[in-house]
Amino acid sequence: MTNPLLAPVATPYGLPPYDRIEDAHYASALDAALAEARAEIAVIADNPAPADFANTIQALEGMGATLDRVLGAFFSVAGADATPARQALQREFSPKLAEFSSDLYGNRALWERVRGMWEARASLDLDAQDARLLELTHRAFVRAGAALEGEAAARMRAIKARLAVLGTQFTQNLLAEEAGWRMELDEADLEGLPDFVVEAARAAGRAAGLDRPVVTLSRSLIVPFLQFSTRRDLREGAWRAWAARGANGGETDNRAIAAEVLALREERARLLGHDSFAAWKLETEMAKTPERVRDLLMQVWEPARARAEADAEVLTAMLRAEGINGALEPWDWRHYAERRRQAEHDLDEAVLKPYLQLERMLEAAFDTAHRLFGLEFREVDVPLYHPDARAWEVTRDGRHMALFVGDYFARGTKRSGAWCSAIHGQRHWPAPRRAIVVNVCNFARPAEGRPALLSYDDARTLFHEFGHALHHMLSDVRYGSMSGTSVARDFVELPSQLYEHWLEVPEVLRRFATHAGTGEPMPQEMLDRVLAAATFDMGFQTVEYLASALVDLDFHSGAAPADPMARQAEVLAELGMPHAIGIRHATPHFAHVFAGDGYSAGYYSYMWSEVMDADAFEAFREAGDPFDPETAAALERWVLAAGGTSEPEALYEGFRGRLPGVEALLRGRGLAA
Ligand SMILES: [Zn+2]
Repeated sequence: MTNPLLAPVATPYGLPPYDRIEDAHYASALDAALAEARAEIAVIADNPAPADFANTIQALEGMGATLDRVLGAFFSVAGADATPARQALQREFSPKLAEFSSDLYGNRALWERVRGMWEARASLDLDAQDARLLELTHRAFVRAGAALEGEAAARMRAIKARLAVLGTQFTQNLLAEEAGWRMELDEADLEGLPDFVVEAARAAGRAAGLDRPVVTLSRSLIVPFLQFSTRRDLREGAWRAWAARGANGGETDNRAIAAEVLALREERARLLGHDSFAAWKLETEMAKTPERVRDLLMQVWEPARARAEADAEVLTAMLRAEGINGALEPWDWRHYAERRRQAEHDLDEAVLKPYLQLERMLEAAFDTAHRLFGLEFREVDVPLYHPDARAWEVTRDGRHMALFVGDYFARGTKRSGAWCSAIHGQRHWPAPRRAIVVNVCNFARPAEGRPALLSYDDARTLFHEFGHALHHMLSDVRYGSMSGTSVARDFVELPSQLYEHWLEVPEVLRRFATHAGTGEPMPQEMLDRVLAAATFDMGFQTVEYLASALVDLDFHSGAAPADPMARQAEVLAELGMPHAIGIRHATPHFAHVFAGDGYSAGYYSYMWSEVMDADAFEAFREAGDPFDPETAAALERWVLAAGGTSEPEALYEGFRGRLPGVEALLRGRGLAA
């Protein structure tokens, strides 16, 4: 029987034929697609004709069409419906894909052709998008080390291999340290804990084979324990264990690994001609240099620290009122902040939720996209990868724009979190194609026959992922490799975080936040409380995050520190870190930075994006209308339609006429003076 992944069939909108694909098809399709792509690469690399833009740069962009189709179909189900069989497939695929990538960038003949094109670029007479494709292709080869020869090339391979081993080791040590600690509780130790924390502690005890509750180092258990437990001694023990993960001596200690990783990264960056790892890493980002990142973070640091110090005084007074005379400690902060929150901003989730129906919040997201960009959504019945997934055809003035797939409910086979992916992206070349974009969330499934209800955080998540989806739906670029969300990491969250702001527009909630039983709109007083609660304890949250971001940046900005722990302590002392706030991720458990390369010298990017989204929404405020058509048109032209066709800084300046400042972010976080 033919493999439905390999035989292009007429499916609606070009969807993978999910009703005919079986798991066994993926592995054989991947092997066939990789072989096909390798053959295509060989044709390009060994072409006897001299290199030109079409036979080299464009040909590279066009190769691997079958591979893209197979991976687009597979990775959509691999995250959203990760059965054990598909997890096994994923483990089998990742080394094959890594090998394919290193063979591609390690192909000398191919590199010579790409380099030749780059050197001849001034005489090629390329238009902007073709020139961008050449620039990005050349940059990808250089960054992978294609230009290195002899000893340097061998050293680069050795460094990459060693870093992969160290990253895995770091993760496994952390898992072992987290699994290896627990605090057993007696009934009397449950003082102050609400039912859901007691239940979670009992479940953790049962999972450990004990008939008593335990606290573990899982964030979803230890954070509520630190918030609610009235037992200061137990909070201290739990907090100290949590803060010490990865730094307990013995075989699972991560401190030496961190030092080696930092040294190897610096060496790798120097081999590629950069002064520091951060300089190399930031080359492809909007921020471009470590100095600009530091400058931005420090503009937020001072107001955040001032707010945290003021909050610390309020919390210390609460501590004193209980007859405790020592200083406010890191194991006290969450506890007293939670009690303050209850006193000042109590929001009863049970009363709020009926106003936030999934169907109505989807309508709100669609209606906002209609008012801003003229998009229309019509639900369609097409074969998808799971019965929970639904699809809408997206049109504008009757023209097909995209297919939008929403897969909203939690289930055992879905990985946690929420994300947006594309089964395939938009492009004009070699033939026009519109995106098929998927939003996946983990909302609680309603009881049979009842409407699905969201928390306010859930509703924000829905808008966030929908903002990423718009980046694909409105994409209007020539090449697939730069369409939709194919942009710098510190730019990609702009559309998504920006879209969250429309949930705060009063007329949106007034129209769409209607009670599931009575149909009444959300009362203004409740709306005010929801919005006020969003900035609660922002001094603490901003400080604990920024401290980690600044340590990450410092580690990668100059010579690698021989003793990262000592350097971390120096950085925190220079910053004037408040005594009662711990760094969010101390070095021995900073998995974002040490488990792999993803967020190394990049942990700042959450804040960078937030600066932009706050400033971008300000453009609508300045226009006097959250749906101002001219501002929306500029946003579409310069950001949502443009993908990666230009440097993000140029795109943002095109939209806003200037680069963003931190003022709108400070107001949004409640940190403005
Ligand atoms: Zn996002």
